[in-house]
Amino acid sequence: MSENSKFQSKSDVVRIGDIEIGGQRKVFMCGPCAIESEEQVEQTAECLRRLNVPIMRGGAFKPRTSPYSFQGLGLAGLDILVRSARRHGLAIVSEIMDPRNLDFFLDRVDILQVGSRNMQNTPLLREVGKSGKPVLLKRGFMSTVEELLLAAEYILTEGNPHVIVCERGIRTFEPLTRNTLDLACVALVKRMHPLPVIVDLSHSLGRTDIMLPLAKAAFACGCDGLMIEVHPNPSKALSDGQQSLSFTELDRLLTGIRPLLQFLEGENRQPKSVCSTSGTIRSQDFRLDQTHGNTRA
Ligand code: PEP
Ligand code: MN
Repeated sequence: MSENSKFQSKSDVVRIGDIEIGGQRKVFMCGPCAIESEEQVEQTAECLRRLNVPIMRGGAFKPRTSPYSFQGLGLAGLDILVRSARRHGLAIVSEIMDPRNLDFFLDRVDILQVGSRNMQNTPLLREVGKSGKPVLLKRGFMSTVEELLLAAEYILTEGNPHVIVCERGIRTFEPLTRNTLDLACVALVKRMHPLPVIVDLSHSLGRTDIMLPLAKAAFACGCDGLMIEVHPNPSKALSDGQQSLSFTELDRLLTGIRPLLQFLEGENRQPKSVCSTSGTIRSQDFRLDQTHGNTRA
């Protein structure tokens, strides 16, 4: 039996309250790279509400390359995010790195983010799988599409159908973008698996000046939504300011993308099934060697 025949899924829409991820409407998840202060988070939440962005992101635990860089405010930071997001009616996504924090996260966030560096942390994948909470699984920056889907399977096989995968760029020799946004991954995952796909433009690009064309390209490839870092004052951000939009820039990007979204949402009027925890697993046989012609060892 091919490894790929283990791919299985029972969902193509992940629902959080009245937000559908993978449904007809495209979704946006925006907010700071890291939670820094009450004021920063509150200003951002106000902006997102005003711009109709339904999901707020913000890292309380930051997987920084250097141990000397800002590591995030930890559990106290998560509470800052929760207070502002709830006040403004926003859903919350935040990265969990340590399964020992799971109960704390489960009480507070709507989507557990598993970061790029933890995509193959199988004990973490199994725990978020057992939790039944929606999971945003980010692609490892050195991982293949097949490895990404197999990581998703760790969560699905624990009985959690609420998996959203996130393309966030892979490491290549190109220095002008932080990573290389692999839009083939988006199209491939949409072809091979019914899971919703989000594209993280900030970590893919590491810059803001080419976000609008790449946002359009990502939607044209079939992604279900975008993650974008936003900060009240990007030049003062404690992490990833260079890839964070100001509020005005976010407004401009959302306006710029609107005509394409209206077109795509009009095209995509076929209703999709909505997953539920009690649904049955639809086992499917996905064979990479048949879809791209390579034979696998
Ligand atoms: C993030 O989204 O905050 C993050 C650290 O992203 P990634 O895991 O993709 O590097
Ligand atoms: Mn970041």
